[in-house]
Amino acid sequence: MKLELDRVSKRYGTATALDSVSLSVDEGEFFTLVGPSGCGKTTTLRCIAGFESPTDGEVRFDRKSMEGVPPEARGVGVVFQNYALFPHMSVGENVAYGLRFADPPGGLSRDERVAELLELVDLAGFEDRDPDSLSGGQQQRVALARALAPGPDLLLLDEPMSALDARLRERLRRQVKRIQSELGVTTVYVTHDQSEALAVSDRVAVLNRGRVEQVGTPREVYHRPATRFVAEFVGENNVLTGVVESRLETGGVVVGLNDQMVALDGVDAAVGETVTFCLRPEDLRLDSGENRIRGTVVETEFQGSTTRLRLDWQGTELTVVVADDGDETVELGSELGVGFDSESVHVVE
Ligand code: ATP
Repeated sequence: MKLELDRVSKRYGTATALDSVSLSVDEGEFFTLVGPSGCGKTTTLRCIAGFESPTDGEVRFDRKSMEGVPPEARGVGVVFQNYALFPHMSVGENVAYGLRFADPPGGLSRDERVAELLELVDLAGFEDRDPDSLSGGQQQRVALARALAPGPDLLLLDEPMSALDARLRERLRRQVKRIQSELGVTTVYVTHDQSEALAVSDRVAVLNRGRVEQVGTPREVYHRPATRFVAEFVGENNVLTGVVESRLETGGVVVGLNDQMVALDGVDAAVGETVTFCLRPEDLRLDSGENRIRGTVVETEFQGSTTRLRLDWQGTELTVVVADDGDETVELGSELGVGFDSESVHVVE
């Protein structure tokens, strides 16, 4: 199923939750809405599911407007943050509840369909268990089975992992991803966790204050953030602003940053213009690179295979991630030289 949002806005009184959101999700795609708390992710999902009506704009399924179509008639499966299983029903009854508006697909009986789904979510034989006797991850897989029971054309997942601990979250997201691609069901996933979004999605939309900042593949939004917001929200980034001092004959510009001149290839801007660009921490290397900076180490954080350093460079703080070989430690307060190549610089709006 192809999903489209065409300039969807949602206002509550004077508050704007969504401001002209346009998105297009392809058949079978795993599409993620990511952004900070309050950016409008859940509201977007609720407009798609039909729990809310847009104030303006239109939601379309396979080019058909969903205006006035109630949630149960949309053929959508939804999994919420809190598992929302019925405690007085067995696991099997909870999954069968997903079939209350629809017959099981493929001519199966209800019991056969329930067994098939429990197998799909790696809970074969759990029919008679109480939801309370299951772990959080297992409960969430039951909720997923229930949402998938009627064979929906669209699966909506609203922060389904947020109540789980980190290790379980990673395992569940791999399972969800596997099930999604096995079924080929168009999926919209909501998370505030950008690393989760990068890990599972075919494409992501980064939302901020009810607006779409960027839509792209995980690699595109990571390596080529369109805006400063995306640069800072997706992964860690050093965002720097400097003034163009001169233009290079080879294309590119020289930007003044603190007391340093930094050459930026492939950047087109006029002398005197302000340029904002970002540099990933992993692109800053110790004592090498075309552009060199010296800073004071103000924070170190051991992360296992890497160490994350904060450098103060004349009042500008930079994050640097360096490989950790197990014996060398960087002293707080010491001076450190780091450098970067022009090609790792990415200019943002
Ligand atoms: P979170 O990650 O915290 O769940 P979110 O990105 O899902 O956030 P939404 O729940 O979609 O954000 O909310 C977007 C904005 O709309 C917020 O500012 C919120 O306060 C507001 N909002 C949402 N629902 C309502 C409502 N029923 N009445 C008034 N304002 C609302």
